[in-house]
Amino acid sequence: AAKLQGKNRYVVFDAVRDRALRGHIASVEGMRQALGRHEMVLHYQPQVNLRTGEVVGLEALVRWQHPERGLLAPAEFLPAVHDHPLECSLGQWVLESVVAQRAAWHRQGVRLPISVNISARHLQQPGFIDDLQNLLGQYPDLNPADLVLEVLESSALEDLLGVSRIMADGERRGFCFALDDFGTGYSTLTYLKRLPVAKLKIDQSFVRNLLEDPDDLAILQGVIGLAQAFGREVVAEGVETEAHGSALLWLGCDVAQGYGIAHPMPAEAVAGWTREWRAPRAWWTKDAGPSG
Ligand code: C2E
Ligand code: MG
Ligand code: MG
Ligand code: MG
Repeated sequence: AAKLQGKNRYVVFDAVRDRALRGHIASVEGMRQALGRHEMVLHYQPQVNLRTGEVVGLEALVRWQHPERGLLAPAEFLPAVHDHPLECSLGQWVLESVVAQRAAWHRQGVRLPISVNISARHLQQPGFIDDLQNLLGQYPDLNPADLVLEVLESSALEDLLGVSRIMADGERRGFCFALDDFGTGYSTLTYLKRLPVAKLKIDQSFVRNLLEDPDDLAILQGVIGLAQAFGREVVAEGVETEAHGSALLWLGCDVAQGYGIAHPMPAEAVAGWTREWRAPRAWWTKDAGPSG
């Protein structure tokens, strides 16, 4: 089944590249130019602790400020460089920008860990962890724990041994890892014991219908129970309403991220947002469960 999935994936990416060639969406060349012209930007989405309401982190999310088409989401351009060397150049730009931004925030007193999405290809570049350590070394205020490296569950599963080695090396040097889109891998979960990830990010597809769909609720209960048994922090993505937050709190989830808390925002907006943020009353009155 994995083979078939892999094959279909290439069919999809070929189709994307084909459309790109015909000028409908991003192409490798277009993205190379965009990087050179500084058209890539990062937005940041807050993550909050459901029990205390505290802001506990920010996820960096790349956008393309396209001169004609406006602000483009990753889905419109990342597929064009999937598993292409340019994906690593983009990833390197993202890391350098995030670290510089984190250092600037440090000086302003905003001292939150930043989550960064790392592609499988980038993570598996020889010397990835060394380079990252060197990059951080240029900023005396920063240390590895200021970054959370998010790796897709699907990427980790494609090369469990290779990825677990890089993670173990990174973890030894103080970096923190999260498994992104957790639960979408349709895998047995025994691999979790091999991956030194501190955080599991539950995919938003399970959160979306949690209040209406008993199956999604059951999956969430299972995933949160499993994460707790393994001593990993659970981050829920796609928390769109206060009711989602209350239900997730009731289920034992630690951290939430979603439009119901804040949309991803430009870096300049973050300090103001963190000052203004107040958690909804329902979250700390703890009486709300998914059934009432
Ligand atoms: P992700 O890492 O799972 O990020 C969460 C995505 O969900 C983001 O989409 C975010 O804007 C969106 N989101 C947040 N809250 C909600 C909500 O309440 N409802 C809904 N419907 N969506 C919500 P975005 O920014 O379009 O990014 C999509 C994906 O692109 C990311 O998914 C990540 O896999 C990838 N990506 C983004 N930035 C980077 C990057 O710098 N490097 C790499 N390699 N991948 C990136
Ligand atoms: Mg992510
Ligand atoms: Mg995700
Ligand atoms: Mg995702």
